[in-house]
Amino acid sequence: MIYQRSSQLFAEAEKVIPGGVNSPVRAFKAVGGTPIFVKSAKGAYLYDEDGNRLIDYINSWGPMILGHAYEPVVEALTERAKLGTSFGMPTELETKIAALAVAMVPNIDKIRFVNSGTEACMSAIRLARGFTKRDKIIKFAGCYHGHSDSFLIAAGSGLSTFGVPNSPGVTEGTAKDTLLARYNDLENVSALIAANPNEIAAIIVEPVAGNMGCVPPLNGFLEGLRELCSANGILLIFDEVMTGFRLAAGGVQELYGIQADIVCFGKVIGGGLPVGAFAAREEIMNYLAPLGPVYQAGTLSGNPLAMAAGLAMLEALNNDRAVFQRLEEKTAYLEVGIRKVLTENGIFFTINRVGSMISVHFDAEPVVDFQSAAKGDNATFKKFFHGLLQEGIYIAPSAYETWFITDALTYEDLDVTIQAIDKVSKTF
Ligand code: PLP
Repeated sequence: MIYQRSSQLFAEAEKVIPGGVNSPVRAFKAVGGTPIFVKSAKGAYLYDEDGNRLIDYINSWGPMILGHAYEPVVEALTERAKLGTSFGMPTELETKIAALAVAMVPNIDKIRFVNSGTEACMSAIRLARGFTKRDKIIKFAGCYHGHSDSFLIAAGSGLSTFGVPNSPGVTEGTAKDTLLARYNDLENVSALIAANPNEIAAIIVEPVAGNMGCVPPLNGFLEGLRELCSANGILLIFDEVMTGFRLAAGGVQELYGIQADIVCFGKVIGGGLPVGAFAAREEIMNYLAPLGPVYQAGTLSGNPLAMAAGLAMLEALNNDRAVFQRLEEKTAYLEVGIRKVLTENGIFFTINRVGSMISVHFDAEPVVDFQSAAKGDNATFKKFFHGLLQEGIYIAPSAYETWFITDALTYEDLDVTIQAIDKVSKTF
């Protein structure tokens, strides 16, 4: 495959956009080389500026669960655009998508729409602080909740015990209110709660982590968090930006039967447009302005184009609940195939998977938290990534990312992928 035009376009982009990209991981820094510039996409495939076709395992980092340019979403957008693209006034569409989301997701009465997953998590934390009248939060090393200040603490790239900012520009003052815990380690969480009595407003967690590769919660971890929160007046926030409307219609709360107090959404809920949302029971959501004292707003929040795309997506998932089982089966097929060829080729690896989230780690030890995820062999991952790219398969350009399987993938696509992995892993 030739990526000549992509390289030229990247060089031009670098002159006017920092690092040539509008979001860092797109820049291929972790794997080397230059990013692929995409021209269009349909179903399971990306078509790049050099005319290559790639099987896509990122799917816009999650949103395109039913494939690219999914007809009902495209139609909804086309029709809606003719009616005006933004009003800053309420529309019926907002109530429709809110009602559908509330019907699909357990334990929520009301939902507020924002423009990204970052905004959703940032607002959820403010709401939790306002509601509990406490300042501190607990987050887990390796979990990513967007790029707002409180969360840029060991967000997948550094590990420390107490809040040390990962990025210049995040003040020590902000960082001190973020306490860090190890994923899947309840004792660590208990100790933090005991050391900060009546000070912790919320525990925010990716209930199936996806930002250190895919790391499932160990048995009892989420249940334990629920118990600790309930016993200590702490709100449990599930960041379901990745998992929501993907692992089940009702997300991880439905999948594992665990109740969160606040739930954050992004990705799938926007059907590929910039949308996030946060939701909770009425008592908590009524703390938000204009009903309550916690301020939160947005010029483009509930934007009609974004809501039309999101509604078309949620309706499609709601009307065809079998999609989640299909995704499970396709991803399980992929997992079995990858396991087989990597084992035959003598590679040390671990595969983690929950439903349609899957990741391959080049280390034989179980990957249960950020520390174990960080042990993976990055040199092998780089070879894996570039080898697959040459075979026309696009996975995330970082060993810390989950693959997002789309229903548009056929079993033939999966076989092609497994064969490519066989070929590439023979060269390690
Ligand atoms: N939360 C999780 C779990 C995410 O994976 C992400 C993004 O990948 C975010 C929050 C932030 O969402 P966004 O990139 O839409 O701001």
